[in-house]
Amino acid sequence: MSQSILLEPVTTLRGVGAKMASRLAEIGIRSLEDLLFHFPLRYQDRTQVTPIAGLRDQVDAVIKGTVRGAAVTMGRRRTLLVKVEDSTGLLTVRFFHFRQAQVTQFKTGARVQLFGTPRRLGSGTEVIHPEYRLGETADLVEPALTPVYPTVSGIGQSTWRKLCGQALAALNRQPPEDLLQGITEDRITLSEAIAFLHNPPPGTELDPIHGGVHPAQIRLAREELIAHQLTVQGVRDTERKHQAPSITSAAEITQQFIAGLPFAPTAAQMRVAKELAADMAQPQPMLRLVQGDVGSGKTLVAAQATLDTIAAGYQVAFMAPTELLAEQHHANLAGWFDELGLPVAWLSGRIKGKARQAVLEQLAHGQAPVVVGTHALFQDDVVFQRLGLIIVDEQHRFGVHQRLSLADKGADGQHPHQLALTATPIPRSLAMVAYGDLDCSIIDELPPGRQPVTTTLIDSTRREAVIRRVGAACQEGRQAYWVCTAIEESDTLDIEAAEATADQLGSALPGVSVGMVHGRLKPQEKASVMAAFKAGDIQLLVATTVIEVGVDVPNASLMIIDNAERLGLAQLHQLRGRVGRGATESHCLLMFKQPLSDTAQQRLTTMQESSDGFLIAERDLAIRGPGELLGTRQTGLAAFRIALLPEHEDLLIEAQAIAARLYEHDLPRAQALMQRWAGARADFARV
Ligand code: ADP
Ligand code: MG
Repeated sequence: MSQSILLEPVTTLRGVGAKMASRLAEIGIRSLEDLLFHFPLRYQDRTQVTPIAGLRDQVDAVIKGTVRGAAVTMGRRRTLLVKVEDSTGLLTVRFFHFRQAQVTQFKTGARVQLFGTPRRLGSGTEVIHPEYRLGETADLVEPALTPVYPTVSGIGQSTWRKLCGQALAALNRQPPEDLLQGITEDRITLSEAIAFLHNPPPGTELDPIHGGVHPAQIRLAREELIAHQLTVQGVRDTERKHQAPSITSAAEITQQFIAGLPFAPTAAQMRVAKELAADMAQPQPMLRLVQGDVGSGKTLVAAQATLDTIAAGYQVAFMAPTELLAEQHHANLAGWFDELGLPVAWLSGRIKGKARQAVLEQLAHGQAPVVVGTHALFQDDVVFQRLGLIIVDEQHRFGVHQRLSLADKGADGQHPHQLALTATPIPRSLAMVAYGDLDCSIIDELPPGRQPVTTTLIDSTRREAVIRRVGAACQEGRQAYWVCTAIEESDTLDIEAAEATADQLGSALPGVSVGMVHGRLKPQEKASVMAAFKAGDIQLLVATTVIEVGVDVPNASLMIIDNAERLGLAQLHQLRGRVGRGATESHCLLMFKQPLSDTAQQRLTTMQESSDGFLIAERDLAIRGPGELLGTRQTGLAAFRIALLPEHEDLLIEAQAIAARLYEHDLPRAQALMQRWAGARADFARV
């Protein structure tokens, strides 16, 4: 295995001392491999001289000509203007920052070479602040396309070029094994692909590279995605090797619970509940994700699995990403389970001291059969007597690591079953990346009687009319949400906006009782506001986006979202899911401020046209790109080095199949691939 060359530290390179090494380490570059995978963002074409008449607007070019005059003008800003001519035309060169020496340098008749970005104006063509060299000898023309590297302050482009040049030379001396040989049809090896992307030869068409579809990029993306899928399958495999309690379904208590509900489960809920039961009957951990649109009733399915587990004598940990959502789940389950005589414990970061100690003891001694909570459940000192099932709501907000750290809390060497829920449907390709180690069940049906929500876009200049409409709805006994987001992204500003809006609405609508909820309220305050809203004592609830998930008040049938253009599609869809839960027809008004950006326009139109969570998620991916969609940091998924989604979706699907084959038939190669690409996703792999 010739991995060695790639794994050598950057300090083996000329020009990399301790200081440079630590600067590089800050952006994750430690080995030659890291450097080789630090690809240019784009390329400049300095391989040829462009005649002035052939310059294209905004396309960087090298120009050669003769100085025809230089003058300092005193307009709004002191400007040095230089006229340069070649046999095809005349060019204006503009400098806003210059030294006196530069003025005298540009002697009429002098030969000059320039590299810059031309702008075609009505009056002619100009270039601002180009690189330039005077005289005939020093040539700005270069033999290959010039890479432009992503960088940080203190590391210039020429440094990147020198470092990558040395790393490429090392790669050339000792090319690593081509691990995809005989597996895929690529005609280009790993080393060739890397070398090509650092230094594309002259004449290379840049559009395919900038679009991520050049064969060199495909070759690398393919290997990266295969390595990723191998890692995912490895995580799954490791987890499945553990023992889990075999839990029999359809316990009497579960039947009793279902019979006592005021509604019947949907066919989709029953199907998914069966899938869970079949998994949990096995002596290996269930690893299952339940996907279902907002309001599809995932909690009920989770509750059934919870009861089965408790009936078998095991404990359940139910975790949600936010305090408010966890509180909702707690209230929900406590309401359901109270009649069955089952207490539901509560643990969040806010529970401290003696109260916390008491919960921990109940969990450790098995007196608490089920606990609902936030990240607080991950803490080391949270110990269970017999943990049989963990449920993670809104899985996409947690990392794989976090779920797995709960999986380690089983007793007697056993691992609990794992059930992940997600209300944000994500496209298949992303699901494979984010939840690749999980089996998937889908609740593809909403409970009957749900009214579709009518969505309208409203210019914020019509705010007065919207307020009147809210007043009228409340007069009729309906309830409404008014969601505030500030113009800028900031929790504090959101809360200020909510406070101002609550004041304004309170005085504009004297007959309406207005409440307010946001993330900084104390838990008891929050709970009492939510209870009052649920009871109908508050008619209009002004809120920040904290109500995004979990809040469930069927009588609320109107939602106003302020500055809707600022929110992402997933968030808008989640918010809108708070209405349309009862029997009355619901409305969602998306208020926006002009001017709208193209992407904001697309998002709002998508919301108006569709209520299908999957379609919305697909559009979201197309508009935003996957990093933002999943929130790379939130998910604990490190970004890919080269693979792009959705551009490389086909490759990902292919990679899954290849990874499965390799895992089974060629483990040494699978391990070599995982090791080579491990740096990029150390966060995913269980280390
Ligand atoms: P989500 O999938 O968004 O988490 P929830 O589990 O919060 O959805 O359920 C939304 C609402 O629908 C809750 O009030 C729940 O009690 C109710 N519900 C769940 N299943 C059904 C059903 N089969 N029929 C009617 N209402 C249901
Ligand atoms: Mg939910």
